[in-house]
Amino acid sequence: MRLRPAAVPVRAVIFDWGGTLTPWHTIDLAEQWRVYAREYAAASGQVPADAEALAERILAAEDAAWARIRAGGGSAHLAEVLAVAGVASDNPGHDAALTAYQEFWEPHTFTDADVAPLFAGLRDRGIKVGVLSNTIWSRDYHAAVFARDGVLDLIDGAVYSSEIDHAKPHRAAFRSAMAVLGLSDPRACVYVGDRPYEDVHGSQRAGMRAILVPHSDIPPAQQVPVDVHPDGVAHRLLDVLDIVDGWRTG
Ligand SMILES: [Mg+2]
Repeated sequence: MRLRPAAVPVRAVIFDWGGTLTPWHTIDLAEQWRVYAREYAAASGQVPADAEALAERILAAEDAAWARIRAGGGSAHLAEVLAVAGVASDNPGHDAALTAYQEFWEPHTFTDADVAPLFAGLRDRGIKVGVLSNTIWSRDYHAAVFARDGVLDLIDGAVYSSEIDHAKPHRAAFRSAMAVLGLSDPRACVYVGDRPYEDVHGSQRAGMRAILVPHSDIPPAQQVPVDVHPDGVAHRLLDVLDIVDGWRTG
């Protein structure tokens, strides 16, 4: 790997969430919505067949939302996905269903053990720590996950695509992440992620350096073919410190 000294000092390292700060898990994407729909249907006095049909509608709505995002067409929030599938977030069944859905996800949300020492090491170097995640979930949910794992206070700024108009790889998403960190020069920023298209291509096109975490088994349907060359590869997250140090002193 060829490490070049940064054109300007590294002032921030911004991280993807799924498959980066939390290790990749392959999720049964249909089952997550069956879990939701069973609770929702039960609270609404519906029969199991209704729940199965609802789960299929939500999965189709979510697939369409992510396909739109990959095509550069914006962002999505969970409430919008559910609304497209005919669910109202103010339905009495929603709260119980959302709780069941989040319990389904919980085992897959735990922060990598390298994250706390990595974030602390970056901050010791005077480098800000950011998060930029493509997600349909809320800031509160993500913050609760980080707080549970003891790293929320080590994050200087976070942007969740559910809150903004464009997701990665759109340049606007990367600009939003820089803005919350008080930065305007992408050359001073490094982005770390597990997806070649959204994370490496996206951040490099935005003018940042990109570090790839190459261990995610991304489903083919979610992959966008792209010829990318990350500026660094982190086989474990703490490698990010060594890579950034190489740029600092190079
Ligand atoms: Mg990811």
